[in-house]
Amino acid sequence: MAGMVIARRLGVSAEITVFEKSRSVGGRIATRYAGEFEFDHGAQFFTARTPGFRKFLQPLIDNGVVANWTARFVEIDRDRIICERQWNADVPHFVGVPRMNEIGKFLSRNLDIELDTAIATIRRDGVRWTLIDDAGNAFEDYDWVVLTAPAPQTATLAADFRQLVSLCNRRELVGCYALMLGFEEPLELPWHAAVVQNADVSWVSVNSSKPGRKAPYTLVVHATNAWTNAHIDEDMDYVREYMLSESALACGRDLREAVHCQVQRWRYANIGKQNGPASFINDEAKLAACGDWFVHGRIEAAFCSASDLASQLGERL
Ligand SMILES: Cc1cc2nc3c(=O)[nH]c(=O)nc-3n(C[C@H](O)[C@H](O)[C@H](O)COP(=O)(O)OP(=O)(O)OC[C@H]3O[C@@H](n4cnc5c(N)ncnc54)[C@H](O)[C@@H]3O)c2cc1C
Repeated sequence: MAGMVIARRLGVSAEITVFEKSRSVGGRIATRYAGEFEFDHGAQFFTARTPGFRKFLQPLIDNGVVANWTARFVEIDRDRIICERQWNADVPHFVGVPRMNEIGKFLSRNLDIELDTAIATIRRDGVRWTLIDDAGNAFEDYDWVVLTAPAPQTATLAADFRQLVSLCNRRELVGCYALMLGFEEPLELPWHAAVVQNADVSWVSVNSSKPGRKAPYTLVVHATNAWTNAHIDEDMDYVREYMLSESALACGRDLREAVHCQVQRWRYANIGKQNGPASFINDEAKLAACGDWFVHGRIEAAFCSASDLASQLGERL
């Protein structure tokens, strides 16, 4: 989100190349395909509280790329529903349609993006930047570099810039395990989305209940950040079995009838609300950084950070 917002906003006054280490765009706004199943295994939904973000979203809504998920929502205390309500249009809970990764696909249109290119080093050569990827390829002659990776990865790339590294080191991103379950038959749970308390899983959603999903019945479960961090290098079979039993309690049924069952480890998933600058800029080195970790671990926060930086860079360009 942050990288594409910068590229879209500044593309009118600069030639911009986005380097992305994955095979597709979107970052943590992601979708996993598994045979006939599809899972939004990263960000689940998002809200839009600021006028700037609402304006930015409008074309995505108009083009059917983003829609309001009117889920039946419950809060569960370990194994007992303690409150329920219907999400409605008053506070929209937006999702990508027909899957979360459509947002990245839409935003990446007409941008110059080098996929499958993990930048390993950035080097200031006189007044220009050179970027070197993990295969040793050099990309030369850039005036500015904007880093939009999560804080720990930004710290590695910015190793020579103490000010930025110390900012990154003060931000603690937390992990999240995502369990993806695919079923042959619907489970007929009495809700679509659940926040779970007093358990080691914090969220269960009927992924296939989001707007526009045609694929078969799917659930996405997230472990709490605390449990994930405490088990971050744990054996994945153990994580899968443990999450299956924790989420079975919340759902009130055995989930082992799932015909697809897979876990994804997000090492840097999220961060609490931050006080401090919304982005980083160093005019002397012509180095800048933005991303959700400046503000809050939310899609809207990634937009706000990038938007703040784009305004500052726009003046300079
Ligand atoms: C499990 C999970 C659940 C979440 N739930 C929600 C939610 O419900 N609602 C919500 O609003 N937010 C949620 N979030 C958070 C939300 O996804 C993020 O806040 C937002 O997507 C961050 O966007 P970003 O552009 O700052 O970073 P990212 O999406 O992380 O983008 C950074 C990009 O940089 C790339 N990259 C990293 N290092 C390099 C390198 N060396 N070279 C090249 N490319 C590199 C990465 O591949 C990635 O594409 C969730 C996240 C996770 C993981």
